[in-house]
Amino acid sequence: MGEGALSAAEVAREVSEAIAAGDAGENGVNAFLSHDANLLSARAAALDEALEAARREGRSGGRLAGVAVALKDNLCTTDHPTTCGSRILEGYRSPYEATVVRRLRSAGALIAGKTNMDEFAMGSSTENSAFGPTRNPHDRARVPGGSSGGSAAAVAAGMVPAALGSDTAGSVRQPASFCGVVGLKPTYGAVSRYGLVAFASSLDQVGTLGRTVEDAALLLEVIAGRDTLDSTCADRPAPTLLPELDRGVDGLVVGVPEEYFPGGLDPGVRRLALEALEALESAGARVRPVSLPTTPLAIPTYYVIGPAEASSNLARFDGARFGLRVDAETTEAMSRATRSRGFGDEVKRRVLLGTHVLSAGQRDRFYARAGQVRARLAAEFAAVFDSGVDVLFTPTTPAPAFPMGDRTGDPYRMYLADVFTVPVNFAGIPAVTVPIGTVAGLPVGGQIIAPAWGEPVMVRAAAALERVVGGAR
Ligand code: GLN
Repeated sequence: MGEGALSAAEVAREVSEAIAAGDAGENGVNAFLSHDANLLSARAAALDEALEAARREGRSGGRLAGVAVALKDNLCTTDHPTTCGSRILEGYRSPYEATVVRRLRSAGALIAGKTNMDEFAMGSSTENSAFGPTRNPHDRARVPGGSSGGSAAAVAAGMVPAALGSDTAGSVRQPASFCGVVGLKPTYGAVSRYGLVAFASSLDQVGTLGRTVEDAALLLEVIAGRDTLDSTCADRPAPTLLPELDRGVDGLVVGVPEEYFPGGLDPGVRRLALEALEALESAGARVRPVSLPTTPLAIPTYYVIGPAEASSNLARFDGARFGLRVDAETTEAMSRATRSRGFGDEVKRRVLLGTHVLSAGQRDRFYARAGQVRARLAAEFAAVFDSGVDVLFTPTTPAPAFPMGDRTGDPYRMYLADVFTVPVNFAGIPAVTVPIGTVAGLPVGGQIIAPAWGEPVMVRAAAALERVVGGAR
């Protein structure tokens, strides 16, 4: 990725052809919810002119000059609809663009379109999209993971070299792992959330997907850094990551939390993870067993805090202001009819759960206790990093991509797909998944977790991991 030999116009044509070929038909990948070949080609023509002018004047065309990037459909754009995979926002157009989108454009990127997702980012398979599921490019009878399944599948299918997603409990890393690409969730506050449709605001973070650690890191360098439009965005400059990629793991202490290798771990995933660890050790890393004992409580805790925040954030979809309105006699009836028709089952389940755990009499039993568990999860990570561990290594998911339909009737089994990714969101720390091999043709990811603002050491270890497992750097 980066400045290449093709003009933006040529890139646009190739991208549109790849999307048309990959997404078409009953068995298509269905990675994109909106892609407009004419719009893309017009944007590319304008970009080529700007790049030509820059060249004449001896200026750089931007770090992503002519690179096509796909956006998860919960990032606001003015020239494409922003639906969040929901009927309630079908055809909705935002009056403004997300900060990350503006930064991509200023770096010379071409926005390839908007990708499919679980409705409002609630799900682990992209089967909760109101606009049909996405299929895994490695096996179209299987899910791509979720909720950023469209972004992961678009990169895996070669439609675009890179994409943005959002990660509240694993929604960048879990689909990246299922699709065999790199997916990076930054430290909470590293990237502006202005223009990211809110789900669980204390956990949501925009993340990057690419074929290599280098691509995911480059994209993060472009989108990160302070933004006065988002008060949760830290007052820090974007990190410098690319110089870290070649430094290797010699002397780094890699912690391996035993709770991430439970009895129920898929045997193929276990084997690949242990092989990757041995390879890191051969490359000079010092591997040290560690313990994060509260890990098994992370999923139940997430299904208190996540729905609580979601029920509040989604109250704005009331038929009065955004998207769908189903008319009725009174305002309350209008709101009820709109939400009944506009939201899918999983979203309704979360709103009910969230309303319940916040209700009078229940709040202390659920929400307050969940906050305590959350603090403990964060403290355990902090203690491990304080003890001299530089990064942690874990499998990204307990098993490879599952068959479509396999878990749609069993929400709890669906939720367990995030068991190794959600603790990181509670701690607000960064993590990245790297492909470490395949089991029966299905990709498996290994996760590198770092302390807060440890993106440099994280990508350093991840790039080394990529090299030792023979990845695509
Ligand atoms: N599987 C998680 C959920 O359903 C994913 C959340 C996310 O990271 N957006 O809530």
